Amino acid sequence: MISIGILALQGAFAEHAQKLNRLGVDPFYIRQLSDLDNEYHGLILPGGESTVQGKLLKDLHLFNPLKSKIEAGLPVLGTCAGLILLAEKLVEDETVHFGTLPVTVQRNAYGRQLGSFERQAHMAHLGEVPMTFIRAPYVSAIGKGVDILAQVDGRVVAVQYQNQLGLAFHPELTDSDVVHDYFIELCHQYKDKAS
Ligand code: GLN
Repeated sequence: MISIGILALQGAFAEHAQKLNRLGVDPFYIRQLSDLDNEYHGLILPGGESTVQGKLLKDLHLFNPLKSKIEAGLPVLGTCAGLILLAEKLVEDETVHFGTLPVTVQRNAYGRQLGSFERQAHMAHLGEVPMTFIRAPYVSAIGKGVDILAQVDGRVVAVQYQNQLGLAFHPELTDSDVVHDYFIELCHQYKDKAS
């Protein structure tokens, strides 16, 4: 049995938990340092407000231990604000959070009018995937070894770099389970390798 921790400081964490529960995986919330005493094989960084999440991660002393785990190969799924937390660089912004994913990300990339929209697009490994975008970022440049998994209107909206999955959209807000299924598979592989 695998266990997946969901960063639950702010944003759309409950929807990820519901999705995992439905898929038969027991998630737990990460809210304080002692929550990291759990054994876990995957980490979800949910959507929300990356500036708020980044500050809370530091204030609650969660930042360094989580960063070390990601660098050591723990599978991580970053959605929307989660992608921003993982990015090595942000456009016209000196802020770097974890900086473990070698991509450049443009925040709030679609402007106010297109604050929120739905699309369906092909995703590598998974086929057609419904995508919900909410004041979403996109990936404007990728580094070596990063795979592009999906594009919408010529913009990169999903990438994978080894153990790190970064999505500009919210897979937890749609009926489709394929993204979470794919992530759970990565967590199983990680667990099998570790044991
Ligand atoms: N615009 C948000 C940010 O910069 C991300 C939006 C989201 O997670 N839905 O953090």
